[in-house]
Amino acid sequence: MMMAEFAELIDSHAHLDFPEFADLSAVLERARQAGVSQIVTIGIDFETSRKAVRIAEENESIFAAVGIHPHDSFAVTAEDLRELETIAAAKKVVALGEIGLDYYRDRKPRQIQQECLIRQLETAVKIGKPVIFHIRDAWGDFFEIASQFQATLPPSVMHCFSGDWEIARRCLDMGFYLSIPGVVTFPKTDPLQEVAKRAPLDRLLVETDCPYLAPVPYRGKTNEPAFVVHTARKVAQCRKESLEKVAVHTTENARRVFAIQASVKV
Ligand SMILES: [Zn+2]
Ligand SMILES: [Zn+2]
Repeated sequence: MMMAEFAELIDSHAHLDFPEFADLSAVLERARQAGVSQIVTIGIDFETSRKAVRIAEENESIFAAVGIHPHDSFAVTAEDLRELETIAAAKKVVALGEIGLDYYRDRKPRQIQQECLIRQLETAVKIGKPVIFHIRDAWGDFFEIASQFQATLPPSVMHCFSGDWEIARRCLDMGFYLSIPGVVTFPKTDPLQEVAKRAPLDRLLVETDCPYLAPVPYRGKTNEPAFVVHTARKVAQCRKESLEKVAVHTTENARRVFAIQASVKV
């Protein structure tokens, strides 16, 4: 085997419950071969959140985040929130998410999205876990809501970060981490590349958001955790730093924000 260019990487955002990953052991073996040592798998509603927990419980290297995605948001009741808390109490749940606001697709009324986000933020504060935010074209309302939780919410993650440097700086000022997706490898993504370049290295994560958004050279194909290496390499290129350095720091950051331990064996 060739000497690896880096020790390990963490994919901070994957949807391993999707049918594309039915042969999960093969997916995990390819990730391991590529140097991806740990993965956070994400729920978007109660059903997929429960699946995420199950997958994490069955695989040492996988952790789970649970929550209601803005596309799936609804008028949550106190009972729903208790249910979410119960799911989130599992040992391998490292965050609430993905939760947020998506005004790009606007699949649910904005008022419902906001309510659903606020209730879940209250839950995150209550249980003391960080949040994984999904925010698209909703920065004004997001900052207004997030600022109300700034003092109490544990440091959290902006997943699939899609803003420019100005927005990135506001997120950083609020103590959030920026998770860079494979989109950064696409042509004409200069604003995102600028964010990858200018953000402090101790606040960056990398993710696949698989099965979506495969990085170049796999663009258009089914994405999977192994491919996060290409995203990390592009981030390193943008910063004119080594892949190893980016790998070391993004791995440390993911472990810090999600409070996860290194694998016993990489
Ligand atoms: Zn998302
Ligand atoms: Zn996602």
